[in-house]
Amino acid sequence: MAKPPVIHWFRQDLRFADNPALTAAAAAGPVIAVYVLDDAAAGDWPIGGASRWWLERSLRALDRRLAHSGIGLIARKGDTAAILTALAAECGAAALHFTRCYEPHAVALEGRVKSALEARGVAVRRYAGSLLFEPESIRTGSGGPFKVFTPFSRACLGAPEPRRPLPAPVMAPCDAVIAGGAISALGLYPGQPDWAAGFDAQWRPGEEGAMARLDDFLASALPAYRNDRDRPDLAATSRLSPHLHFGELSPNTVWHRTRALAAHDPRAESGAEKFIAELLWREFSAHLLAQFPALPEQPFRPDFAAFPWSGSAAQLRAWQRGLTGYPIVDAGMRELWSTGTMHNRVRMIAASFLIKDLLVSWRQGEAWFWDTLVDADLASNAASWQWVAGSGADAAPYFRIFNPVTQGRKFDPDGAYVRRFVPELSRLPAALIHAPWEVPPMVLAAAGVRLGETYPQPIVDHAKARAAALVAYGTVKGSRNADASCALRLRS
Ligand code: FAD
Repeated sequence: MAKPPVIHWFRQDLRFADNPALTAAAAAGPVIAVYVLDDAAAGDWPIGGASRWWLERSLRALDRRLAHSGIGLIARKGDTAAILTALAAECGAAALHFTRCYEPHAVALEGRVKSALEARGVAVRRYAGSLLFEPESIRTGSGGPFKVFTPFSRACLGAPEPRRPLPAPVMAPCDAVIAGGAISALGLYPGQPDWAAGFDAQWRPGEEGAMARLDDFLASALPAYRNDRDRPDLAATSRLSPHLHFGELSPNTVWHRTRALAAHDPRAESGAEKFIAELLWREFSAHLLAQFPALPEQPFRPDFAAFPWSGSAAQLRAWQRGLTGYPIVDAGMRELWSTGTMHNRVRMIAASFLIKDLLVSWRQGEAWFWDTLVDADLASNAASWQWVAGSGADAAPYFRIFNPVTQGRKFDPDGAYVRRFVPELSRLPAALIHAPWEVPPMVLAAAGVRLGETYPQPIVDHAKARAAALVAYGTVKGSRNADASCALRLRS
């Protein structure tokens, strides 16, 4: 007798290779593949605009790949539990397989789906597949979660090595004819104006694009990664974050490919060690969110709840549009708008500027990044914003206020990054490009720059803003002790 079909519910695991849930589904019976866009279930965090662009492209790539096995991707929009229950009834599925997610709303959704399907006799199977280490497996000596990165990463590196990647499964299609489910019906692609027009030149969403990016990074940039990763003017980092977020490749694949290369090429060893450490920041953020579900909304250190934010809506707008008058900040914000990403070093500088120079709440920055990043990830975004704000678990000390001019000079020494994204300054000499207000009028004129007209005057004076930030931080009890123990509202 033919085996009944198994539904694979694709979530943030849009891949074939090293997908334990999909491999198990393929072994159990013919596969029905479904993706559900459920904005209501995501509460305050429906997928942002730039990520929707990515998702649309990624689902199309997945659909093309599934078609080789004679399987069509069913894409539906609405209440996940209701859609999956109806689908199971329609095709007579025996089981539903999916990969575990860690966002609080996604965890709650898993519970609802499980109850709804099990009530109708459909077996529900959940698999790990998005992290190297499950949150329950990395604990302190006393059994609690880590709140500081260094011991966390030490514990990860001392734990049994993450499992080796699985090959892509061979899948059989199901005979049942399921109507509807076009990806275009999800309405993910931006309307007019098409702000994502430039994204296609930057990215190749989908599993093939992810593997190509990994191959390229390992072949060309890994040996210099440790030294060059802070330089936004160089192509020195992997740019894998959106691929990892959407699960187009697994962190296990990245881990084992990186380690294998380092084992054979001593030039890659140091870069590999640093690269793995960055992957562990992704793990740390996910583990934090799993333990502290309020991380995206509330300061991890409760004292910060009363922080005296005083920045204006006009300042927030200038920051969002890349019109602060500080070239490295503006270059970053424009890179974000035009490409859907921003170099990590510049993310830190731009975030520090919003929080500490403008005294605008980190939550405003978090929300803007959520909407504009193609790699927007609830855990990494919230943990990183809180890290910069000083309110996070393992946060930057309050007095670490980036000077946007010295940061620009240090990490974009030739001004190439600023020239690329702030073309109105492109004719300024490298030595002067990071502080146009200090440039002699004759030099400004020769470069075609009219401050206040072609490019803004700085919206704040950094030295004064720094002093004001220190006063504001002084009002927060406990901010002066970066290691202050904090009352954690942990999920039991
Ligand atoms: P690489 O340097 O090549 O690093 C490899 C991988 O490690 C990345 O792809 C990413 O998955 C992970 N990683 C690296 N740095 C970090 C980090 N600091 N925290 C967590 N994971 C890291 N990253 C996101 O994936 N999504 C976000 O929404 C996000 N928001 C951020 C907001 C702020 C304010 C800051 C300062 C950082 C944020 N980051 C976020 C972290 C980091 O900037 C990006 O992961 C990195 O820039 C991605 O580029 P890459 O893939 O070339 O990184």
